[in-house]
Amino acid sequence: MARLVMKFGGVSVADGYKLRHAGELVKRFSNDNEIILVTSALQGVTDKLLDVARKAAGDGNVENVLDFIKLLTERHSRAISESIMNPQIANEVLQEVVKKLNELEKAYIGLCYLGELTTRSLDYISSYGEQLAAPILSGVLRDIGIESRAYTGSEAGIVTDSNYGNSRPLEKTYELIPQRLLPLEGVPVVAGFIAKDEKGITTTLGRGGSDLSASLIGASIDADEIWFWKETSGVMTTDPKIVPEAKPIPTISYREAMELSYFGAKILHPRAIEPAIRKGIPVRIKCTFDPECPGTQIVHDDVQKADVIKAVTLHRNVAMLTISGAGMIGTLGIAARAFGALAEAGINIIMISQGSSEANISIIIEQRQLEKAEDALRAEFPRDLIKEILANNDVAAVAVVGAGMAGTPGVAARVFKAMGQAKINVIMISQGSSEHNISFVVASRDSECAVQELHHEFGLGG
Ligand code: ASP
Ligand code: MG
Repeated sequence: MARLVMKFGGVSVADGYKLRHAGELVKRFSNDNEIILVTSALQGVTDKLLDVARKAAGDGNVENVLDFIKLLTERHSRAISESIMNPQIANEVLQEVVKKLNELEKAYIGLCYLGELTTRSLDYISSYGEQLAAPILSGVLRDIGIESRAYTGSEAGIVTDSNYGNSRPLEKTYELIPQRLLPLEGVPVVAGFIAKDEKGITTTLGRGGSDLSASLIGASIDADEIWFWKETSGVMTTDPKIVPEAKPIPTISYREAMELSYFGAKILHPRAIEPAIRKGIPVRIKCTFDPECPGTQIVHDDVQKADVIKAVTLHRNVAMLTISGAGMIGTLGIAARAFGALAEAGINIIMISQGSSEANISIIIEQRQLEKAEDALRAEFPRDLIKEILANNDVAAVAVVGAGMAGTPGVAARVFKAMGQAKINVIMISQGSSEHNISFVVASRDSECAVQELHHEFGLGG
């Protein structure tokens, strides 16, 4: 008997049919396993809750709020009637959902009158997406014949600090969760993303936070594995749209998964699996369309098989900024000022490289932030110090990722030889000293070819 935490994201509980499918996936594994479920809100609901809150506080229009509550009522009632067959269970769940929607309506009307929106009230409002989803999923399980109860995050024992909008769990969460959920009675369904602080005020764990809820629960009850159900076949060697032979990676380490998520393969936010890493609990990405497929297991760094390269990633929507000038050579503090100015402007830096001539520094950022970044740098540096600030929009970042390349000579040689043979010009290179990742920049038009060449070079296809 293994103990599993399973998390369903918004896409996998988008409507009644998907909720039913989620319930059936649980049933399939519930004979041989103890299971705890964590759910997100129905797809898109959190976004809408936040949008409508901002509008309500802005224009005070109560009509809009009432229309929105009506839409939410329709969507959730439809989900209930599509996913729960037994009329008595469906009715109980509907009552619960309507009760929550009444509370939500009152909060929205409050915002209309107050015309003021705090992060604390945003947390209160956005918590309703998951509060509505959890009772439905729990009802689906009862309908399928599995004993179940819905819990909010705080009922399940998650206590956070009061940093509304992006709260962090307190240590005592790890003790409270097993007290609240164990011994298991059937399959509990916990609302992800939401919690309360020590004063009992609703908090959220930040956007996408239900992954963190699942990891926290898994870590606190010593789960054997934490499963993240997705509509993709695990973590892929590369994007199958670029390389049709791409295949799921059976096992990767936490570190490698982190390198991958930084490079555009949106799997899990590294921060979300921190509790799992801390307790060494394996995480698995499973595909809802192919439940027998093992998917990708993410394990402790020491346990994984040290393939040299596990995956090739492509980050298309990036831009390169290069600052150069003879005045930079030997001048202290240039990098500090450049990065400081960018940080102040709210710009996230993806890659950095400086050659030992010190005459230029290149930085890779998100494309959409290019203009803002250029302005920030021009404002920071007088002309005598920095001769030029060059922006290039037409680039893409390619990365090869794998723990096995650490200490293995010749990996970089293979990467760049493959580029040379394909006549692809490499514009910028960066490798962190962890040696888990070699990243480089090419012109956009060469980027797909670069990925194909590398996927082939390291034999990643089937
Ligand atoms: N519903 C929340 C969000 O959309 C949390 C989650 O989906 O993980 O951010
Ligand atoms: Mg979501």
